[in-house]
Amino acid sequence: MRRLARSARTFLPAQLSMAQLRESAAGCTGCDLYQCATQTVFGEGAGRASMMFVGEQPGDQEDRAGRPFVGPAGKTLDKALAEAGIARRDLYVTNAVKHFKWEPQGKRRKHKKPSATEIAACRPWLEAEIAVVKPRVIICLGATAAQAAFGKAVRLNELRGRPWSTSIAPIVFVTVHPSAVLRHPDPVEREREYRGFVEDLRSIRLHLQLKAA
Ligand code: SF4
Repeated sequence: MRRLARSARTFLPAQLSMAQLRESAAGCTGCDLYQCATQTVFGEGAGRASMMFVGEQPGDQEDRAGRPFVGPAGKTLDKALAEAGIARRDLYVTNAVKHFKWEPQGKRRKHKKPSATEIAACRPWLEAEIAVVKPRVIICLGATAAQAAFGKAVRLNELRGRPWSTSIAPIVFVTVHPSAVLRHPDPVEREREYRGFVEDLRSIRLHLQLKAA
């Protein structure tokens, strides 16, 4: 007999509101990632944000704090947003996968990339967040978020720089994850990658402004 894939869909509340989504997601066991994480890290931000940023998954600090983008990647995102002229208070930030996946490395909890099955299992939460917030544009930070938005593995560099329509939303942009910027060991490369990230954010802001004009 074929086994049914597990999914967060079983845990969605009957009525979609941010408070109910958050409460229901706290008890999600739609895949195995809840077992080793401290807590569900749901999205947060403006209730009617025009931009929704989607990262990969919570990191070590986010897992402990229960909030997205509060660690080093979040600080890089804040800095890049400020340089691109985007106020974080007008945004909603979340992750494609809501539990921290990690493996031990000495005393550290080392980030481990979520699998395609885990990304698909968690997608109902992202769809529900989009349904409630109704952002004008989704910005995928990195390959995992893009995989959640496009429903398949994609190459970031082939998608950067222009809007796409996907099954998750009519306007989707793709750029790098700020943690990928931070991972560059070479300071010159790191700065170059950071400048490209800021440029992507700036062009997304301009795209929205032109649409609104
Ligand atoms: S990662 Fe997503 S689907 Fe898996 S248990 Fe956590 S909230 Fe549920």
